[in-house]
Amino acid sequence: MDADGAGIARKHVRSLVVAGEPDDVMRWAEAAREDVSLEVRSADTIAGALRLVETCELDVALIGGAVGDGSYRDLLRALQLAREELPVVVVASLDRHALREAFALGATDVVAPGDLGRLGPAIVRALRDGVLATMLRRKRDAAIDERDPVTGLPQRTAFERYAQTALAACEQDGCTLAVLFLDVDRFRVVNELGDHSAGDTVLREVAARLHDALPAAYVARFGGDEFVLLQKEYEPGSARAAAAAAVAVFAAPFWVSGKPVYLTASVGVASAPEDASDVGALIGTAEAAVFEAKRLGRNMVRWYRSPGSTSSLERVLTRRDLHGAIDRREFELYYQPMYDVETRAIAGVEALLRWRHPVHGLMLPDRFIPVAEEFGLIEEIGAWAMDRAIAQVREWSDIGIPAIRVSVNVSARQLDGDALPALVGRLLAKYEVAASCLEIEITESSIMRDVPAALRLLHALRALGVRVSIDDFGTGYTSLAFLKRFPVDVLKIDRSFVADVANGAFDGAVVRAVTTLARGLGVRTVAEGVELEAQFDRLRALDCDVVQGFLFCHPLPVAACTPLLGAINPIGRVGGQPAESGLVAPR
Ligand code: C2E
Ligand code: MG
Ligand code: MG
Repeated sequence: MDADGAGIARKHVRSLVVAGEPDDVMRWAEAAREDVSLEVRSADTIAGALRLVETCELDVALIGGAVGDGSYRDLLRALQLAREELPVVVVASLDRHALREAFALGATDVVAPGDLGRLGPAIVRALRDGVLATMLRRKRDAAIDERDPVTGLPQRTAFERYAQTALAACEQDGCTLAVLFLDVDRFRVVNELGDHSAGDTVLREVAARLHDALPAAYVARFGGDEFVLLQKEYEPGSARAAAAAAVAVFAAPFWVSGKPVYLTASVGVASAPEDASDVGALIGTAEAAVFEAKRLGRNMVRWYRSPGSTSSLERVLTRRDLHGAIDRREFELYYQPMYDVETRAIAGVEALLRWRHPVHGLMLPDRFIPVAEEFGLIEEIGAWAMDRAIAQVREWSDIGIPAIRVSVNVSARQLDGDALPALVGRLLAKYEVAASCLEIEITESSIMRDVPAALRLLHALRALGVRVSIDDFGTGYTSLAFLKRFPVDVLKIDRSFVADVANGAFDGAVVRAVTTLARGLGVRTVAEGVELEAQFDRLRALDCDVVQGFLFCHPLPVAACTPLLGAINPIGRVGGQPAESGLVAPR
C-alpha cells in the first residue's frame, strides 16, 4: 500500500471486498464513507479474490463470514499466504472462540455486521497499524526463523507458531494433533564423558534420527535435551506409533569419541482437541506427561490421558447417562472381603461401586468416577454409595450376621468442608449402625492435595468413631514422617507394590518399611490386589495384617457375598462354587 500516510489522509482506499451478498458491498462502502472513500474491487470466491490480490494494488481487504467456495477462515489463510502484509478486516459476528481464531489466522480487525458504524474507523486503524504490524511481523519472523545452532532445528517460538496454524486447521483437515515431548534420560552422563562437543554430537544425531524415523512430524528443539514433535493424526493409533518410533531411535548406541553410549528417552504425549485446545496448554500437558514418564522409571511413553481411558466424546456421553442414573437405580455396590492373615477370618468387606449401564452393561468405577468428579456429580453418587453401604450393614445385622465392618471409598471431591462427617453421622443414626462398623477409605493422593483440610476431616471422622483408611498407599508421596500426624487406622498398600512383592527385592523392602512403621504407630496394614500364592506368602512374612484380592475372592454382588459372611469364614474354608465371582480357596 501507499504507506506515506498521504493516501490515508485523502481517505481514498483501494479495497478488495469479498462479501457473501452483493448488497453487502454497497452497504459496507456506504457505512465507511465518513472515514474513507472506498475504491472497490469485489470478488465472491476465494479464487477470484486471489486473482485480484495478484493483479491489483490494494490497501485493505474486507471480507464477510461466508465466501462462495469456502469460509472466511480459508480466505484468511489464503490471503496470509498470498499477501501477508495486506490488512484484513472481517465483517462477521463471531463468538469468542472464533474471534481468537480469526486473529490467529491473520485478521487485523473484526467488525460485527450489526455494528457497521465501526467499519470506517476500523479501516483507518488497519491501514495505520498495517505498516507497523508488517514491521513487527518481519522482526518476529526473523526471530522465529532463527534455528537452534546445534541441531539446526526450529526452536520453541517457531514450533508454537506452526502448532497454532495446525491447530486452527485440524478440524477442517479431519485430523487430531499429537504433541510429543521427548526428554533424553540422564543426558548429563554424555556431557560428563568429555567436553561440550560430545553432547552436541549426540543432540545432532538425535535430531537426524528423529527426522528419519518420523518424516511426517514437525521436530523442534526446546533447549537442553528436550525435543518436541508435532504429529498430525489422521488414523487412530498413528500418534501412538510415532511415540513408539521416537523412543525406538534410541535403540542403537550413539558414538562419542569412538565409544558407544547407550541412551534412552522418555516421551510425554498430549493430543488436541482432547487434552487441550490451545498450543500453550497442549505443550504443557505433554510436558506433564513426560514428567510422569520420568517418575515411573524413564525409557517409556506416557500419555497425558492414559490410553483406554475415556475420550472426550465418551466423557460427554457418560456424563449425559450419569444424570439420573441414581433415580433409574442403575448403580449397585459390590462387596469384596478382606481377610485377616493371622486368624484367616473375614476382617471386613470393601464396598465397590458398579454401574449397570443400559447399553454398555456393567461398568467399573475407573470408567465413570473420573467423569462424575469432573462434572460435579460425585457428591451425589458418593452420598448414595454411603447410604447403601450403611443400610447394608443394617440388613446383614437384621438377618443375624455378626457385626461386619464395611469400607467405603470416598472421592477427593467429597473431602471439602464438613459435609462428609455430617452425612456419615446422619446415616449411622438413620440405620442405627455402630460407627465402628464403618471404615472410610481415602486415597493418599487426595489427602496430600490439602493436608490441613484433610487433617481436620480425619479428626472429625475419628470423633464419630469411624475408622479411617489410607487407600492406594505408596503412590502419593506421603512422607513417612507425615503419617505420625495423620489420625488413621489402616494403610492399604497399593496393588503396584503387591504385584512385584514376590520377585522384586525393592518392593519387599517398601512393604517391610510400611509394615514396620505401621506397627510402631499402631496402624493396621492391608495389602490389596493379592492374586498369587507367592505374593500372599511373602506378605505374611513381611507382617502384613490383612489381605484382599482375587486370590481369595472377587468383588461380589450382595446376594453372592452374604453367604460368605454367615459365619466366621477362614480363608481356607470358603469352598463352594467359584462361579462368576471367581471365588478361590488358596489352601
Ligand atoms: P480401590 O479402592 O483401590 O479398590 C480396589 C480395586 O482393586 C477394586 O477395583 C477391586 O475390584 C480391585 N481388585 C481387588 N482385588 C484385586 C486383585 O487381586 N487384582 C486386581 N488387579 N484388582 C483387584 P474397582 O472395583 O474397579 O474399583 C476401582 C477404584 O474405584 C477403587 O479402587 C476406588 O478407588 C474407586 N471406587 C470404587 N467404589 C467407589 C465409590 O463408591 N466411591 C468412590 N469415590 N470411588 C470408588
Ligand atoms: Mg479402596
Ligand atoms: Mg486401593
